[in-house]
Amino acid sequence: MNIAIIGSGLTGSLAAISLANAGARVDLYERLSDEELINRDRTYAITHSSRKILEKIGIWPYLVSHLCAFQYLNVIDNETNNNFQFLVNDLNNTEQKYLAVGWIAEHRKIMSSILEFISDIDNINKIPTSVIPNTNNYDLIVAADGSSSTTKKKLKTPSFNFNYDQICITAKVLVRGVNSNEAFEILNSEGPFAVLPLGGDLFQIICSQSIEKGKYNMGLSKSLFLDYLSTILPYGIEPDTIIDEPCSFPINFIFNYSFFSGKYIFIGETAHKVHPVGGQGLNLCWRDVDSLSKIISVPLLKNNHSFIPVIYSLSRFVDVLSISILTDILVRYSRCNFEICKLPKRFIFYILKKSTIIRKFILNIMTNGF
Ligand SMILES: Cc1cc2nc3c(=O)[nH]c(=O)nc-3n(C[C@H](O)[C@H](O)[C@H](O)COP(=O)(O)OP(=O)(O)OC[C@H]3O[C@@H](n4cnc5c(N)ncnc54)[C@H](O)[C@@H]3O)c2cc1C
Repeated sequence: MNIAIIGSGLTGSLAAISLANAGARVDLYERLSDEELINRDRTYAITHSSRKILEKIGIWPYLVSHLCAFQYLNVIDNETNNNFQFLVNDLNNTEQKYLAVGWIAEHRKIMSSILEFISDIDNINKIPTSVIPNTNNYDLIVAADGSSSTTKKKLKTPSFNFNYDQICITAKVLVRGVNSNEAFEILNSEGPFAVLPLGGDLFQIICSQSIEKGKYNMGLSKSLFLDYLSTILPYGIEPDTIIDEPCSFPINFIFNYSFFSGKYIFIGETAHKVHPVGGQGLNLCWRDVDSLSKIISVPLLKNNHSFIPVIYSLSRFVDVLSISILTDILVRYSRCNFEICKLPKRFIFYILKKSTIIRKFILNIMTNGF
């Protein structure tokens, strides 16, 4: 089967490896150089669903040394002063042996490992261009050209999208008072934020807040920004030094009504985009890749390519829709600071603290999707 993939970000690159492993000949179209692809300052939370996909395609052993495992995910509600922890014991039995609730990955490290892996695979041909490939030359065209996809614009694919009235600020910070195996999801009325371990005392802070406040904070000197961080971090967690220049980016939500159009299949952020602070974005993108390669491996479909796009689209609908809605609910829950909400919020945290079954259920959804 001849497949073109448009876009060699983390979704398109992983799709190239996975589809080549499934026996397809892949042309991988990308407008940026490898250096530009690698040189992005982003940090991702990786769940066990991604670990399983990476293991299946044989790249996990090369990536795992670049990842920072965490054994505790602390969820804190700043408004009601409540908290609970997800632990390794809350995972499925098969996942517990990895001794990690999840992993934190820096973009540069995983992107360069994945590109190196691609260079050793014969049936992946990299084509440096932004020109959209000719449909006649391929059995399928996989669009992985990101949230501003030109392929989707060209095909006039309808989607539901909106901008959050928030921006996201990210910064690498040396922090005191936290163990290097702990991650934090902090629910604040400004918006949720995450504190993710990168090894030793280094942590990635990803915080969402109103556009005005975010712009103001981005204009602060590093020392004043540190002061600001100490006001939003829970008691006992002390930000010490900012290692890089804080970055900010707007946050939007995208959900395509369909994940295909004719021969075109939409994967990754071309098809859906969620709020980054829920830690689901990249895992959802990689589950797209896994579904597509499973469908392509079905012998009956190898000679009936025309059914693949619709089967793929149906197979991804529930997982993408549910995770998109749940992530959005998390953001709204965090920002809801009406007095009347405090009692139900306390009750939810009480249940999550006390009930292992409910914690296991929620962690399983966050880890493996639907
Ligand atoms: C500024 C920013 C910061 C982010 N920070 C975080 C974070 O902290 N944590 C997190 O979990 N997620 C973050 N995300 C989201 C995360 O980057 C994505 O989930 C992840 O990169 C997967 O995206 P993708 O591969 O589907 O798309 P992308 O990474 O956008 O890749 C699309 C690729 O397609 C290429 N392309 C586009 N058009 C064409 C064309 N016509 N021809 C050829 N190639 C083309 C682009 O050059 C690009 O390389 C961030 C996103 C942005 C934009």
